[in-house]
Amino acid sequence: MMEWLSDNDRFLAIEENLKVLRDEIAEAALASGRRPEDVHLMAVSKTVEPKFINHAIAQGIDLIGENKVQEFLLKEPELDLTACRAHLIGHLQSNKVKKIVGHVDTIQSVDTISIAQEIGKRSREAGVVTKVLLEVNVGSEESKFGFAPDAVTEAACEIAEIPGISVDGLMCVAPICEKEVELRRIFSNMHRLFIDIGAKKIDNITMNILSMGMSGDYRQAIREGANLVRVGSAIFGMRIYR
Ligand SMILES: *Cc1c(COP(=O)(O)O)cnc(C)c1O
Repeated sequence: MMEWLSDNDRFLAIEENLKVLRDEIAEAALASGRRPEDVHLMAVSKTVEPKFINHAIAQGIDLIGENKVQEFLLKEPELDLTACRAHLIGHLQSNKVKKIVGHVDTIQSVDTISIAQEIGKRSREAGVVTKVLLEVNVGSEESKFGFAPDAVTEAACEIAEIPGISVDGLMCVAPICEKEVELRRIFSNMHRLFIDIGAKKIDNITMNILSMGMSGDYRQAIREGANLVRVGSAIFGMRIYR
């Protein structure tokens, strides 16, 4: 918990956390035969006040992720987004699509064909093309959103036909695993899916982004091929939900 920290202590903690993270990310990238700069660090800023998000941006963060449309739109005017892009990473309801299109570069949490159709429709109305990632329910958990692993290729083909959208990759939230090998296997299955879909060379689908790994499991995700990790609490401290 960082609630009792002064703003200044929290700024310093963010700087320190980012240094540690960058070292760890570089190490995991090298361990998987890639360069450190091949793995993109997203700062997940849900519940975090703009002044702290802006501090992370001042430390070189160029990508933030927000879960909720309303929260992001409220904070957006206070954020210094001149050199930083934003992605939506939380489950999206269809009545919120119109509000968010044009405000984020990519929607990472596309979990049904119908939400993709709505994003396409609202993007066309706004005269933009929205990049999307397809969320995969890798652990086949009932409580989680996302396409079943064996349904994602077909869904990708269908979504690629929708004007106003371009499919840019895959995203997942891994289940809690007791064993490290289990977690690694889940990430490695995602990576295989990512490679397989990319190899099909389908129009309007580029498998650029494999978004997996959070504060607790980004090292394992990178080792299995993630090229974008979404890290919140390991940068900003524990979240305080109000
Ligand atoms: C909150 C969240 C994260 C970051 O979680 P941490 O464990 O704080 O790093 C990443 N991805 C999604 C989809 C999230 O909702």
